Amino acid sequence: MKKHNFYAGPSILPQFTIEKSIEGIRNFAGTGLSVLEISHRSKEFVACMNDTIALVKELLDVPRGYHVIFLGGGASLQFCMVPMNLMNHKSAYLVTGEWASKAFKEAKIFGEAIEVASSKDKNFSYLPKNYVIPSDADYFHITTNNTIYGTEIKEDPISPIPLVADMSSDIFSRPVDVSKYALIYAGAQKNLGPAGVTMVIIREDVLGKVERTIPTMLDYRTHIKAESMFNTPPVFAVFASQQTLLWLKEMGGVKVMQERNRQKAQILYEEIERNKLFVPTVTDPADRSLMNVCFVMAPEYKEFEAEFLDFAKSKGMVGIQGHRSVGGFRASLYNALPEESVKALVQVMKEFEAKK
Ligand SMILES: *Cc1c(COP(=O)(O)O)cnc(C)c1O
Repeated sequence: MKKHNFYAGPSILPQFTIEKSIEGIRNFAGTGLSVLEISHRSKEFVACMNDTIALVKELLDVPRGYHVIFLGGGASLQFCMVPMNLMNHKSAYLVTGEWASKAFKEAKIFGEAIEVASSKDKNFSYLPKNYVIPSDADYFHITTNNTIYGTEIKEDPISPIPLVADMSSDIFSRPVDVSKYALIYAGAQKNLGPAGVTMVIIREDVLGKVERTIPTMLDYRTHIKAESMFNTPPVFAVFASQQTLLWLKEMGGVKVMQERNRQKAQILYEEIERNKLFVPTVTDPADRSLMNVCFVMAPEYKEFEAEFLDFAKSKGMVGIQGHRSVGGFRASLYNALPEESVKALVQVMKEFEAKK
């Protein structure tokens, strides 16, 4: 039976990435060696790293004055690297979910971190509006897509102070005006590649302004200077990410992805609204994520939750159980997920409704 992969992360990758990864494991760039066993200093891997960086710059139209680096440690390491490198005394955070809360917690280690606004009062089911960004903070941190709660900031905000964004779960899903940001980071395992590598885009002029001593490995300048080769990079994860970027380019780029993602999300949200058994957890359609669609059983059908999960599973739906802090269901519709999978899920929802 065909499996439809709705996992939130690690998550579905293009079949192209899988095939090219297998090829690269067998014979990397015509070297006759596996990508798993070659020196990261070999000319073939250096070319792979440079090409991956160039593809990021091309696909996101990264302006001059910005650097793209690849690091280990996951997006979670960025929660502390950002304040360590950018925050002297004060920073500001928009607290819109669990990842945002974790980032905020780390910033407090380094000084005064201000919660500009939070949607915790309603279990992060909406995006705070009309907040004021303090002009005396060193930066303002947002999480553009709240993977667990299914809200997404779909327009690049305007900030009077340097803007920092965790884009782990919606990077490359739409065009981004990079010039509006001082720093963007994203763990690879949602929309880019396998777990193990994190992409960071940094505007040169925000660095070198803090008074503290930064450990070498945690200093962005180390990795910029060494072109992501200061120490052994996660070579396989970078190689696989390069394949996804090549696929993305072939598909027509982020604008095309945005159209596809809008279409996929619309099909699913429409069914959730129509189907008597389900309700969306994010009430305002403007706040709803195109990447992670969260929904629960309508109160009068609550008892059928486990039965629906089993039924969906029997039809090949994988990874639709909601995160434990929200419950219900979450279907992640990342770039690589075909519309066909969304339609298959909708079909399962209709069939289950007909049985009730
Ligand atoms: C998955 C995720 C993270 C955590 O990523 P790790 O690579 O596991 O540290 C952080 N932020 C967001 C928005 C995520 O979706």
